[in-house]
Order: sequence, then C-alpha cells, then structure tokens
Amino acid sequence: MKNINQFFSKTEQQAILEAIKAAEKDTSGEIRVHLENHCKGDALNRAIHWFGRLKMNKTAAHNGVILYLAVKDRKVAVWGDQGINKQVPENFWQDVLQDLLLSFRDEAYSQGVITAIRAIGLKLKELFPYQSDDKDELSNDISYGS
Ligand code: CA
Ligand code: CA
Repeated sequence: MKNINQFFSKTEQQAILEAIKAAEKDTSGEIRVHLENHCKGDALNRAIHWFGRLKMNKTAAHNGVILYLAVKDRKVAVWGDQGINKQVPENFWQDVLQDLLLSFRDEAYSQGVITAIRAIGLKLKELFPYQSDDKDELSNDISYGS
C-alpha cells in the first residue's frame, strides 16, 4: 500500500504546485490541497476541520480555499473562507466538485485537481484581484492527513 504522500507522483505534485502558483499570480487569494485516505463522515466537515488546523483562516481578506480529497473513499470537498464564501454563487463549489469527481472516474486525479485549482483561481481573480503588494500568506502546499 502506497503512503498517502505518494498518491501523486513527484511530477504530478510539481504540476499541482505550479498550478497553485500560477493561480495565485492573478489573485490575492490562497489555495491549498489536502489529501487523506479515508473520510468517515461528511467531506465538507472534514475540509473545514483541516482548513482550521492548517491555519488557513489567517489571511487578511479571508480568501483562502482548501481543496480536500479523501482518495480511497473518493470524497472531495472544497471550502472557501468567509470572504469568498459570501460572494460566490451557490452552485460554484458544486460545479468545481462535479468536474473533479468526473476526472476521478477517469482516474485522471492530478489533472482533475489542476483543473479545479484553475477554476478556483479564476473565480478568486474576479473577486480578489492580485495586488502589487501581495504576499504569499499561505505557503503553496499539498498536505497530508490520515
Ligand atoms: Ca497571496
Ligand atoms: Ca499561497
């Protein structure tokens, strides 16, 4: 059994981190990806749990977004901080997740994650355009839990 942090190959991890970096060039928003094997309950609750635990609520504009994947249980969720959540249309996260699940069905996991990052990035760009004094408030990471 592969360790969760080997779920994505090095090349895939690199591509995902590049996608986050590229997305954050257009927005002050911050994106992270969190993976774990199993999620017993509701994926959104779990995403919110990790969002807090990874201190992603510490951005000035409250515009951090976590993309959460429980890979073995094929559950995904995305959670945006309050600055974003109150502005996105209700179906936005659903659309992102639906596309992601479709990619999973085709076992195109990293591609699905990258597409989701791009979609989130475009929305963040609209709501929180890049500022010249932007800081990388949350390091661009893929993190792992179990
Ligand atoms: Ca930033
Ligand atoms: Ca960042």
